Amino acid sequence: MPIHLFNTLTRRIEPFSPLDPAGREVRMYTCGPTVYNHAHIGNFRAYLFEDLLQRHLEARGYHVLRVMNLTDVDDKTIRDSRKAGKHLADFTQIYKDAFFTDIDTLRIRRALHYPAATEPRYLDRMISMIQQLQAAGIAYQAEDRSLYFRLSKFPAYGRLAHLNLEELRPSGRVRSDEYEKESIGDFALWKAWDENDGDVAWDSPWGRGRPGWHIECSAMATALLGPELDIHCGGVDNIFPHHEAEIAQSECCTGKPFVRHWLHCAHLMVDGQKMSKSLGNFHTLRDLLARGFTGRETRYALITVNYRLPCNFTIPGLEGARAALSRLDQWVERLTENAADATPESSPLSGFSGRFLDCLDDDLNISAAMGQLFDLVRESNKALDEHRLTKGQSAALLAEWRTINAVLALEADSLTIPAQVLDLVEQRQQARASKDWALSDQIRDQIAALGWQLKDTKEGPKLLPT
Ligand code: AMP
Ligand code: ZN
Repeated sequence: MPIHLFNTLTRRIEPFSPLDPAGREVRMYTCGPTVYNHAHIGNFRAYLFEDLLQRHLEARGYHVLRVMNLTDVDDKTIRDSRKAGKHLADFTQIYKDAFFTDIDTLRIRRALHYPAATEPRYLDRMISMIQQLQAAGIAYQAEDRSLYFRLSKFPAYGRLAHLNLEELRPSGRVRSDEYEKESIGDFALWKAWDENDGDVAWDSPWGRGRPGWHIECSAMATALLGPELDIHCGGVDNIFPHHEAEIAQSECCTGKPFVRHWLHCAHLMVDGQKMSKSLGNFHTLRDLLARGFTGRETRYALITVNYRLPCNFTIPGLEGARAALSRLDQWVERLTENAADATPESSPLSGFSGRFLDCLDDDLNISAAMGQLFDLVRESNKALDEHRLTKGQSAALLAEWRTINAVLALEADSLTIPAQVLDLVEQRQQARASKDWALSDQIRDQIAALGWQLKDTKEGPKLLPT
């Protein structure tokens, strides 16, 4: 069965196939962060769903060329860099660096390119695209010296968001003469400098100014991936106007359909509202790390809800992720122990990785896929308890786990147990040897306080991170 994905453009689940005649290469563009602050975990929900999509495509044999842009100039970056008394580039560099640290912590695979809007090669391209639009009568310069996209020239505008253009026309409540644009829906391509921009401005054929946010993505996507993309992703709030505008600009410049498959993830919510900077109801990854959670736990909590369903963020939800991961860790550990170096052999439990990937083929149905995984954990733990799983069968299940972990990226890092913990384990063994159970329990609590769970097994004490 081919991969099927929901396409925002058609509102249908469609079989996925890339443009590449060999059917192998996938061109994927993902809208990236505006680097004026630390990204919050709502933003990371979008980046994690894109990571899951990329990894699943790769598991199915595609070669994914993914680009993610960095918006390093816009109203917010300018406003906050000025507040901080820093040059725009110095200011945004802080949040670019933080972003890369965070995606590594969340095990998000790096894209091939992270173009930034202020790089001269992309600025040049933005300007030449706007010139092309102006020459075709699609862009115009308004009284405020900014350039706008004339929506009336692109009848398909609104198709992605399934909006009626009429709704964008000025109503009785909004007087159109309050606007310098010809029509209220026309969006800015190039913003003429004003005093709020301070020293942020670039030369252009229309005087000093800066690009609009939408043209940034059209220029960077087509520069790096060509005129036609297979997949374009973002959060649902990107659909309108940002992605509509990207389609309008790109298609008017290239004359080709810009994107075959549009995917958008639903929001991460807090108490029924979107997690966002403006509502102040957000958590950064750093906040969660400071509370003792890990990137792996956060990844688990955010990727295991189907991307088109709103995901409610709660601290108990993260604790649930921790418990689920600990169950997985213990299972992997048991299989590893049982498998030793045996040659894999099949068992009645074999084949679950195929079923897991089949679930993801169905519009990334991760909850069904995780259901398959936890069924297997239960069944194979039972088989291990009853000594029904041979070494070779355990080795085969482990190999299947590694296949799906290439998509999930949830396996525990190989562990380095701190010397202090090893020392305590040794002291506890001595306490047990002299039957001092009270001391033994006390040391076990000390070990737990250091983040390790100690289990006594036939082979001796075993440590697992909590
Ligand atoms: P921004 O930095 O605001 O442009 O957002 C970057 C990405 O995060 C975009 O793809 C947004 O759609 C997405 N995003 C923002 N807030 C949320 C949220 N609460 N849940 C999911 N995605 C979000
Ligand atoms: Zn974008």
